[in-house]
Amino acid sequence: MIYSDLILNERNWDNLLTAFRTGRLHHALLFHGPSGTGKSAHAIELAATLNCKDSTSSNPCGLCPSCKKVRSFQHGNVRLVLPFPRKTNLDKSSPSIKALTDADLTSLQEQMKTMGMKPYFKIALNNANTILINSIRDLKNELYLSPPDAGGRIVLILDAEYLCIPNATSANALLKILEEPPEKTYFILVTSRSDLMLETILSRCQKIYFPALPEDAIESFLVDEGESPLDAHLIARLSEGNMHLARNFQGMVPQLYENVKTILNAVFTKQPDLWIKFHKEVSRLKQSGRIEMDYFFRTGIFAFRDLLFLAETGNTENVVFVDNLQKYQSVLEKFPQSNWAECIQLMEDALSFIRANGYLPLVINAMLMDMGKVLKGDEVKRFSLQY
Ligand SMILES: [Zn+2]
Repeated sequence: MIYSDLILNERNWDNLLTAFRTGRLHHALLFHGPSGTGKSAHAIELAATLNCKDSTSSNPCGLCPSCKKVRSFQHGNVRLVLPFPRKTNLDKSSPSIKALTDADLTSLQEQMKTMGMKPYFKIALNNANTILINSIRDLKNELYLSPPDAGGRIVLILDAEYLCIPNATSANALLKILEEPPEKTYFILVTSRSDLMLETILSRCQKIYFPALPEDAIESFLVDEGESPLDAHLIARLSEGNMHLARNFQGMVPQLYENVKTILNAVFTKQPDLWIKFHKEVSRLKQSGRIEMDYFFRTGIFAFRDLLFLAETGNTENVVFVDNLQKYQSVLEKFPQSNWAECIQLMEDALSFIRANGYLPLVINAMLMDMGKVLKGDEVKRFSLQY
């Protein structure tokens, strides 16, 4: 295999191998499902399988010259298409690479190198917000002008939903190619947002679903990477089957506990300085990027899930933030009337409002005040933030 540490989806993999060996591999495949489940890595493994020189094993050997070229994205039969920054002054006949600055190009090369080594690495270029029509034109020129080398050619389209963003021009151009596929050429469209894709594209593809990874698989992956078993367990719980998230949380456990502390302190006290700390942290995170803010809220949501679970079952086994058990117990004693499910909902609502550019101080204040009511067992009017 190309990746020794890929958590293989055995069912999908066996089906793909069987289809390939029996000459029934569909020329357009859609690898879809939640983020961080190894869809791109499975596509790269398939590209290697089609071209591996070692015929003794059914999986790609990972060692022959062909496999090595697939790993470093230097194989003539493997073509990568991915979102680029939109450039309004890009000439119709210009190659798509012209949309990249020198810095983008260097970054892309480095990221491709990393992707060849790490199965759950995701390539992300700054401001990449569309799959350019120029990228599809480049592809068309190459595919129809030169036949593939021996083996089979794989066109790997990452974040394929960007074919349809901001409009469907690229998707329609690709559709024409899919309708008349060049020989021995296989397209793999990878997406975690197939809901954003054109039905005409989807209906051309054989759909292969990659579900969220099992928690225990993520946990042992992280332990193999050197994370302590306790931290690996916490991160695996928090990531909900998404290895991209898990990798982002690696080495961050102390920070995650700190997040929970900031959130719970603001919720359970009425001290102005703790509210201000919460405000400051959220606005800092909002400025540093949406994903950081999402992580912050996610930790809070999991802390409330802990409380909900403890309140309902008294069982400590499934608690995520185990170091907080003592604090949880005292909170549960102090607020026996609280509706913890409602607290979770209030946090989720607040996060959506902030994402939608709601006025931050107002959203946070409303959330904290509503939570104060919920803790005492009072009802709050949901969606009261829709102002
Ligand atoms: Zn090989």
